[in-house]
Amino acid sequence: MTECGEIPDYHGPHTQPLKPGHTKLNWYEPSNRVQRVRVVLHTCQCRHTVYELCSAAGQGSIRRTDHEKGTVHETAWALTATARSTFHRILQGEAW
Ligand SMILES: [Zn+2]
Repeated sequence: MTECGEIPDYHGPHTQPLKPGHTKLNWYEPSNRVQRVRVVLHTCQCRHTVYELCSAAGQGSIRRTDHEKGTVHETAWALTATARSTFHRILQGEAW
């Protein structure tokens, strides 16, 4: 999946262009209630919007960082499997 370099920590998959009929996700200000968040997967950081699949205490959330605007948002915390499938839908351009 490395498309543009050899540094695996930096590069990840690229999101696909949004498809018609995509799901609009709700994005919230990041909460600090979860102390120890592990980043499971992230998209390529050569884009100015980076999505990370975060995991903590059996739950998951997607964090969106916009490096151009300097903003960070996250989805509601859900079951890890649900968050993982949402992350893949974002990658496929099926959710935003
Ligand atoms: Zn890239």
